[in-house]
Amino acid sequence: MRAAEMTDVSSPCHLRVTRGRFAALKMPILVIEDEPRILAFVRRGLEAQGFAVDAAADGASGLRRARGGRYDLVVLDLLLPGLDGLTVLRELARSDPALPVLILSARSDLRTKLCGFELGARDYLSKPFSLHELLARVRVHLRAAGTGEQEERVLRAGPLELDLARRRARTGDAAADLTDREFRLLHHLVRHRGEIVSREQLLADVWGYHFDPGSNVVDVCVRRLRKKLGPTAIETIRHVGYRLAA
Ligand code: CA
Repeated sequence: MRAAEMTDVSSPCHLRVTRGRFAALKMPILVIEDEPRILAFVRRGLEAQGFAVDAAADGASGLRRARGGRYDLVVLDLLLPGLDGLTVLRELARSDPALPVLILSARSDLRTKLCGFELGARDYLSKPFSLHELLARVRVHLRAAGTGEQEERVLRAGPLELDLARRRARTGDAAADLTDREFRLLHHLVRHRGEIVSREQLLADVWGYHFDPGSNVVDVCVRRLRKKLGPTAIETIRHVGYRLAA
């Protein structure tokens, strides 16, 4: 990859505005990347924003480090020596589903992206990439993880309770552990309880798609949630979307 492909010449003012906040926090980020030049480039960018960066150059050591539990976010390459990135992602989703993983990969085909999101990635950025875009996305995910709402451990919507720390939902007698995607979909509906949420909104906010991938991932996920929580847990608003009772 040429340096120019990785570099942004613009310097948006919001980078300067938000820098202090994250610099003060020194949030630890793990970058799993085997290409030394890309790793150095990403590391410099993140450190310049005040993040504490650790690195791993292969999948197995990356997974080991990530499981140590010290990180607020993982930036993950897919084509890695030894253990490939999708395997690392799958294992991480099992052991630490709350840890946000942002994939940064030269693989830009839709199939790989869908697979990454299905395995629990929060975000996907294709190489060549803009450093400013990577930093912006990192900040979004760290902000989402650090909102005051997370400190309120249990959210309620009608008869439904969502335990944010345990990623567990309860309604009446039914209680269930949730997969990462189920949790995020339900979390989105709970935060918008009483409102109709469209499929497009859910695709954008839960899957990160700002286009229709032509699949029924949202409906499938809602069906799985109803199986776990009862058929009336989530209301379908015909031709519009879904709603949770306030
Ligand atoms: Ca690679």
